[in-house]
Amino acid sequence: MNLTSLKTGKLKKRYSDIFLSFIIASVFIFAYHLDNSKTQKSEESQAVKGVTNRFGFNLDSFYIQENIIQKNEVFGSIMSNAGLTSNLIMLIEHEAKDIFNIRNIQTGAKYHVIKRHECDETPVAIVYEPNKYKYLVCDLRNEVKVNLIEKNIEVCEQIVNGTIESSLWKSLEKEGVNPSVIDLMEEALSSSVDFYHTQKGDQFKLIFENKYIDGELIGMGRLLAASYNNDNGANYAILYKSKDYEGYFDAEGRPARKSFLKAPVKFSRISSNYNLRRFHPIKGKTIPHLGTDYAAPYGTEIRSVADGVVTDATYGSGNGYFVKVKHNNIYQTQYLHMSRFAKGIRKGTRVKQGQTIGYVGSTGLSTGPHVCFRFWKNGRQVNHLNEKLPLAQPMNMSELPTYFEFRDKVLDKLNEVSLPLHDVAVSKP
Ligand SMILES: [Zn+2]
Repeated sequence: MNLTSLKTGKLKKRYSDIFLSFIIASVFIFAYHLDNSKTQKSEESQAVKGVTNRFGFNLDSFYIQENIIQKNEVFGSIMSNAGLTSNLIMLIEHEAKDIFNIRNIQTGAKYHVIKRHECDETPVAIVYEPNKYKYLVCDLRNEVKVNLIEKNIEVCEQIVNGTIESSLWKSLEKEGVNPSVIDLMEEALSSSVDFYHTQKGDQFKLIFENKYIDGELIGMGRLLAASYNNDNGANYAILYKSKDYEGYFDAEGRPARKSFLKAPVKFSRISSNYNLRRFHPIKGKTIPHLGTDYAAPYGTEIRSVADGVVTDATYGSGNGYFVKVKHNNIYQTQYLHMSRFAKGIRKGTRVKQGQTIGYVGSTGLSTGPHVCFRFWKNGRQVNHLNEKLPLAQPMNMSELPTYFEFRDKVLDKLNEVSLPLHDVAVSKP
């Protein structure tokens, strides 16, 4: 099995593990374009909507023939097949040299031959589309001009509103909602909602970004806000950014995420628990296992579980490549057996919660790819799964008025879509 399929398999398994108990009666999907989204209608998007212009050429006056680059085709042969002289091809190569390497054209990518009339021998332009984000126009009218055009990415917000009655993961998938939104929701609300124990009737609303090019959905952006109603009332996570703060906050301005992440790798499984009487597979005797092992494929990103400063990024004969992070005067965490460190990770580097600090490997005394995660409290290694960890630092009082103003706008947006049973009420201080 290759790494990609392994990862996908794990991901699906994990969602089904977590959300098997989820029950959904209905998922109402509302998508709308907001005035403040980073949207500007380009010539490009008009063309696709059947208007008049493509790649800057008026379709009333030009004929565009679309082609796919075949195996072993190179830029020169395409150009010459399109009717260009070798002189012209050299001119194009010269004009393109600072903006695009035309020797790198990809099999399977599209190119377009643009003529005044279908039966013309020579084109007025050739357009190469390496991917959906950009295209290269070789304009041959008058003098040769080569331009690389980046397409506009249109960001639209989508609101999903649902009540738990069957598998959330399945319902969202059926509605065409990107399932990674579940993961984002779980992380954003990790300090207030226990997603392992959801109840029938729990309700949620999510606002997240979808990215479009030429009207085609190309992926998901950020999760902007989440609300989750359960027995404990309404729980919120609102994405907020200012000079001093960045992240998810609850309705009162407290961090909505936990001060420590549950695991240093996503989509992993615990392969060996913290155990003071473990039989060591390599040394062949009972040796306390003072960490928690997370098995994950080679190269999986290892993330720091909390903000902190790197105190070690080095090699030890047993530990292999490892990183140690100091979070405060009480807690330190250590990540062993890495294949390599992430870029810029060395002694003294400041890291944020969730930041990639290295990659899964099997260096040192290790039988397979995994991270041995060690949790230090006051200089002693403890089982982090048994620790009652401190709450994250609340937002500064001086920041709160600005935050509340922002929060109210987000809540208004969330409340535009009313929940089927009862509305969400938030106490404003
Ligand atoms: Zn271990």
